[in-house]
Amino acid sequence: MSGTLPVFGIERHRLTTDGQGVTTLVGAYGCPLQCRFCLNPHAWNPDTLKKCTQMTPEQLYEKVKIDNLYFLATGGGVTFGGGESLLHASFITDFRQICGPAWRLTVETSLHVPRQKLEQVQGVVDEYIVDIKDMDEGIYTAYTGQPQPPLKENLQLLAASVSPEQVHIRIPRIPSYNTEENIRASVAWLQELGFTRLEVFAYIRRG
Ligand code: SF4
Repeated sequence: MSGTLPVFGIERHRLTTDGQGVTTLVGAYGCPLQCRFCLNPHAWNPDTLKKCTQMTPEQLYEKVKIDNLYFLATGGGVTFGGGESLLHASFITDFRQICGPAWRLTVETSLHVPRQKLEQVQGVVDEYIVDIKDMDEGIYTAYTGQPQPPLKENLQLLAASVSPEQVHIRIPRIPSYNTEENIRASVAWLQELGFTRLEVFAYIRRG
C-alpha cells in the first residue's frame, strides 16, 4: 500500500490548463529540484508540509468524486501536481484501483525521479505533462541544481513505452539561462525521440 499523500491544495473545475476536460488538480508536497525561478515554491517549503492534509487514496477519492459527472461528460479527471507528482507513484497507482478506469489521470512532472517510479505508473496514467527545463545538460544543472540524466533516461523510457499522444512536453524560455538556439536544440532532440506535442512558453520572472 502507498500510505498517505501530503496534500497542500485541491482545485476543482479546471478547464484546459491541466489536461483534457474538466479536471481537479491535486497538489502534493515534495520536489527533488531547486529551480531558480520556481513557480510553486510552497510545494517544497518545509513549512507547507506542516500544513498539508495527509490523505489515503480512499479519502482523496471521497473528496473528489463529487465531480464524477463532469469528469465523465468531458473526458476529464484528476491531475496530480506539485512539486513532483511522480514521487507519489505508489499512491497514484492505488488511487487508480479505487477510482476505476473511467477517469482520466494526468501527472505534471519534471521526470526527475527514479526510473522505477515512472515504470510504476505505466498503464495507470493517461497523460504526462512534462516540464523539461532545457535539454542542455549545463543549462539544466545550472537552473535546477541537479544532474540531468534522470530526465533524459525517463524521456527515452516514455518514448519507447507510451503513445506520443499521451505526452505533452513544455519547453520554457528561461530568462538568463537559455536562448532561442538552446530551445531549438531541445525541440530537435525531443522530435528525434518521436514526441509531437511540444509547447514552447515563457517563464514569467517574479521579484
Ligand atoms: S520542478 Fe517545479 S516545483 Fe520543483 S523546483 Fe522546479 S518549478 Fe519548483
